[in-house]
Amino acid sequence: MSLNKRFIIVTFLFISLFLELPSVSCAYTRAEHNKFQRSIVDFRSRLNPKYLKVKRQKTKYIIVHTSELGLKYTLRVVSKGKHLRSGHRTDGGHAHYVIGRNGRTYRILDKKYIADHAGLSMWRGETDLSKTSIGIELVGYHYGSITDQQYRSAGILIDILQGVYNLNDQLVLTHSQVAYGLPNRWFRKNHRGRKRCAKNFVRAKAGLGPSWMYDPDVRTGRLLADAQLSKVFYGRHKVDPLADQANVISKRNTAWAIAGEDFDSTTTVYKFPNGRLYTGDQIADKVGWNHIPANTVVMLNQESDIKLLQEEGPIKTVSGGITAWSLAGPSYNRKTTIYFLPSGRIKPGSMISDWDDLPAKTRVIIGYKGPYRLHKKQTAFRIAGVKYKDQKTIYYLPSKKLLSGNKIKDFSQLPVGTFVFLPATL
Ligand SMILES: [Zn+2]
Repeated sequence: MSLNKRFIIVTFLFISLFLELPSVSCAYTRAEHNKFQRSIVDFRSRLNPKYLKVKRQKTKYIIVHTSELGLKYTLRVVSKGKHLRSGHRTDGGHAHYVIGRNGRTYRILDKKYIADHAGLSMWRGETDLSKTSIGIELVGYHYGSITDQQYRSAGILIDILQGVYNLNDQLVLTHSQVAYGLPNRWFRKNHRGRKRCAKNFVRAKAGLGPSWMYDPDVRTGRLLADAQLSKVFYGRHKVDPLADQANVISKRNTAWAIAGEDFDSTTTVYKFPNGRLYTGDQIADKVGWNHIPANTVVMLNQESDIKLLQEEGPIKTVSGGITAWSLAGPSYNRKTTIYFLPSGRIKPGSMISDWDDLPAKTRVIIGYKGPYRLHKKQTAFRIAGVKYKDQKTIYYLPSKKLLSGNKIKDFSQLPVGTFVFLPATL
């Protein structure tokens, strides 16, 4: 090799080290694409037969959502439809793909058809983006985390779709970026912030380049900015999108910031610190929007499980719409969050891989230590002291019954093998 040639190569290497070359799509091999394609679960037969399939004329965007539900209910809602505030039900077809927390991907609707996923939406002045985009639902909450497996599947899926429709990274957006709302009590004009979904989507983790530096519709004055979302997407200083992660009301985290347009929906449930429950449509009359107490928990998409949310006391139940995440939030995988599976197994949060892996009817106690085994020499009083009759002292009977201390009439009748759990802060 001539000195000249060597010089050129070294210079090139040097330059490429310091120049950030534009990210090129096709980050995955053909083999990876094929393997992923074969792994997609075909869910198209579950689509609501009432959903009218119409072919999409153009495909200009890929839009990412978070479903605000666990897998089972997500699949049901996007396939069969959801309840609307008016009491009507939609006809389903709300996504092309769903990606579960373990990365498994489901095909809901053939990608050539229009999915009803973006609702009132705008990007660069163009509206009704459902007609020109592909919709991908990630199972999870906008105030929670997206798993590495989801990022991997989303990355490959988006890569494949970008190839098919010739879309660059800037044409991959989140629903919260493109949704807009009509004037309401918070905004006097059309505005961003109708939806929060996928505001926690970290593009780089799906192999995508950065998003826009600004919101094109806010810049041109077509829409008003949403303070929280514009910080997340376009802020000069990177904001942790999970900073307000909790679905808990505070001065900064208002009903609007948590629920967006669903703030007054019949399917949004407000659980007050005193345990009272209200649905979004009851707040105006019964409480008033300015009087929701701090630390109220807000839950979206609660179509049928409100009774379970009413459960008093420390024992909670996982059901279709109420996931371990909606009950325990970020504490779901702590050692002190203890799950009682329908099979009879007891697992601390540190032993579960994800909140969405727990079957319905799993019961949960949050902030506990134990178990302490009851036997002749180790009575309830020995274990729990004067609090043995307390509501917060939990007994797990060999019959799989889970009881609070205040519900037990005769402690001498507790069978050997009963386990006792105590509040971890005792
Ligand atoms: Zn969405």
